[in-house]
Amino acid sequence: MRLERDTLKRIVHGALTARPDEIGCDECFEQLDRFVETTLAGKNAAEAMPLVQDHLDRCSDCREEFEALLAALRALA
Ligand SMILES: [Zn+2]
Repeated sequence: MRLERDTLKRIVHGALTARPDEIGCDECFEQLDRFVETTLAGKNAAEAMPLVQDHLDRCSDCREEFEALLAALRALA
């Protein structure tokens, strides 16, 4: 059996750029309010929701979103 070059390229690309348990911006955003609430409750949000933390570490857009939401909810509290 011989792998097509394109198939091989896709496999290598996938292995280098994404892990199967990664979430995207949409999923991150969906869970962001819960993540912020957990943080505000003084709990370890990174431990409770590691996939969101993982995404925030890599995505500056979502990190800004998180910080803005955190600041807004802190101001309300
Ligand atoms: Zn993102």
